[in-house]
Amino acid sequence: MEEVRLSEHVVMLRGDGGVYPNGSPLRVTGGDTVVQIDSSLDSGCAAADLIVLSHYHEDHVVGLGETRAPVTVHRRDLPAVASWDEFVRCMNVPPGALGDELKRTFRLSERPDATPFDDDAVIDVGGGVTLRAVPLPGHTGGHCGFFVEPDGVFFTADVDLSSFGPVYADLESTLPDVRASLARCAEIEAAVYTTFHHKGPYTDRAGFLADLATHAAALDAREARLRALLAERPAGEGPTTARELVGRGVVYRVGGRRPWYADAVEEVIIGHHLAETV
Ligand SMILES: [Zn+2]
Ligand SMILES: [Zn+2]
Repeated sequence: MEEVRLSEHVVMLRGDGGVYPNGSPLRVTGGDTVVQIDSSLDSGCAAADLIVLSHYHEDHVVGLGETRAPVTVHRRDLPAVASWDEFVRCMNVPPGALGDELKRTFRLSERPDATPFDDDAVIDVGGGVTLRAVPLPGHTGGHCGFFVEPDGVFFTADVDLSSFGPVYADLESTLPDVRASLARCAEIEAAVYTTFHHKGPYTDRAGFLADLATHAAALDAREARLRALLAERPAGEGPTTARELVGRGVVYRVGGRRPWYADAVEEVIIGHHLAETV
């Protein structure tokens, strides 16, 4: 893990390459208080006074049971942090796909004492430093970025600016939410932009906006590939299901790397686009 100073009060805890399953939490210091935004495989959360979560996914909540520090997360993602059963339900994958191996790898623990915050909540760090929760739903229902003031650091969490594009496969994911969150990210003027995976930090707004546009363009590319597949079908064939279209290059490249969750994620994402297309 490498510590990268982003501003007077913010340090990025850069995980190995930042690509899933790794990631890059932020440590925000104000007065005598240390707040950590997310945790990761490389950076547990033992040294923080408060853990603020962008969302409930396994790669962001590593080792929450290894600290007594309070944990807070957006109200819509709270149940999945508090309870394993809710985590599994919200992940929206087939029964049995999530189990002890995932728990062991990410050192997952339920935190039934976690507390909720709402859209645009302001969390006071101390010493005049604050975090504003910027609701960016779509990846999960309660997915949030954070704007750190007075530094002007904007953490976009899993709006990760990858050219792969957004992932919207949770129980509460919707395409309109994804589009609105991408637009919201573009509106925010910051001195420094950073993500949890892949990209950043950026100190030039133009560079951030260019990569955000590439990230967002994946939505159109998926839709175009889906339309091409539908057009190939012989006339008179019955309706196509999302499952039949998994592995055909709509979301993941044919022959490319497929993480363990690829089939489930691709089926849900195709389902969202199919619902809009037909
Ligand atoms: Zn995520
Ligand atoms: Zn992530």
